[in-house]
Amino acid sequence: MRIQHNISLKPYNTFGIDVTAKHFVSVSNISELKEVLSLPEFPAKLILGGGSNMLLTKDQDKLVIHINLKGIDIISEDDNFVIVKANAGENWHEFVLWCMKNNFGGLENLSLIPGNVGTSPIQNIGAYGVELKDTFVSCETISVSNLSTQTFLKSECDFGYRDSIFKQKKDQHIITNVTFKFTKHNHKLNINYGTISSELELVGIKNPSIQDISKAVISIRESKLPNPKVIGNSGSFFKNPVITSKEFEKLLVNFPDAPSFSVSTNEVKVPAGWLIEKAGFKGKHFGNYGVHKYQALVLVNYGGAKGSDILNLSKLIQKTVLRLFNISIEAEVNIL
Ligand SMILES: Cc1cc2nc3c(=O)[nH]c(=O)nc-3n(C[C@H](O)[C@H](O)[C@H](O)COP(=O)(O)OP(=O)(O)OC[C@H]3O[C@@H](n4cnc5c(N)ncnc54)[C@H](O)[C@@H]3O)c2cc1C
Repeated sequence: MRIQHNISLKPYNTFGIDVTAKHFVSVSNISELKEVLSLPEFPAKLILGGGSNMLLTKDQDKLVIHINLKGIDIISEDDNFVIVKANAGENWHEFVLWCMKNNFGGLENLSLIPGNVGTSPIQNIGAYGVELKDTFVSCETISVSNLSTQTFLKSECDFGYRDSIFKQKKDQHIITNVTFKFTKHNHKLNINYGTISSELELVGIKNPSIQDISKAVISIRESKLPNPKVIGNSGSFFKNPVITSKEFEKLLVNFPDAPSFSVSTNEVKVPAGWLIEKAGFKGKHFGNYGVHKYQALVLVNYGGAKGSDILNLSKLIQKTVLRLFNISIEAEVNIL
């Protein structure tokens, strides 16, 4: 373990923003993590996973701790289920592929999401009708302030739409591993969300396996979302706003084509991408940054953009959406 100084964080964030970390350390085991957390010369810390859900707007003076804890273990299994523990620094998509290789069902719809296993509970990652919480059993954490270890069971995580206790109590707990429960057969397939079923039809698959679903999701995502290795981005920049049914009725008066998804008896979710597109931002270039041409929800860095430029664009979008539709949209991405 070596603490480096004044290094560029460009390779460590999918937006590709070039800011400097005054101090940077990559930890590959728990004792290294505890050691760096207790260094008195670095009271402030920034925890870094895969850097795919952050917008870095300035040079970082804190000690940046890159979580590089590796390892996947089968904890127990019976005829039907398997309990698997994965360490926080495992790459999420590689972990999903490992599950597919072993025919462990549950994560196939979450294929190709960037980032690390340890970050997945923070915003309860979700895609194509499935959320992390559906297979989550527990996770272990280390307290940033007193180094105590804690286990959080699913019932204690307060999971919601892109939300959890770890997001609410930001920067207090470092997740060191996550335990999942997967099916070994009789997998519960989710193919009715988005274009999964039409993608499967296209390749002539009538009775899909979890591996088929994973491949279909990968193919859809590759065709729809910009690859961060080519165009810097952090996926969906904003969360889909949840409004009351009454507010939605008011919206329909001026925008009868407004789409919505039911959330509860008196609440609906409005796609933020639709609001941003209607506000005229889709595909807009502002020099070397802008809004993606196919995905209005995705802000992009075409190369060399500053985090502050993208932050200002996000604020302009929020202001315009509020003015036009009287709806507030909240950033999903962590602004640092
Ligand atoms: C192209 C693209 C597509 C995406 N698609 C989706 C999608 O479909 N669904 C979805 O939900 N998300 C999606 N995302 C967002 C992102 O992939 C997830 O939020 C992911 O879980 C972030 O993981 P990370 O390791 O990169 O987090 P980072 O960006 O490294 O960190 C995010 C936050 O968590 C903190 N943190 C990091 N590691 C830990 C830890 N071990 N313990 C405690 N705190 C920690 C950081 O300090 C930061 O505040 C997408 C992103 C991109 C770029």
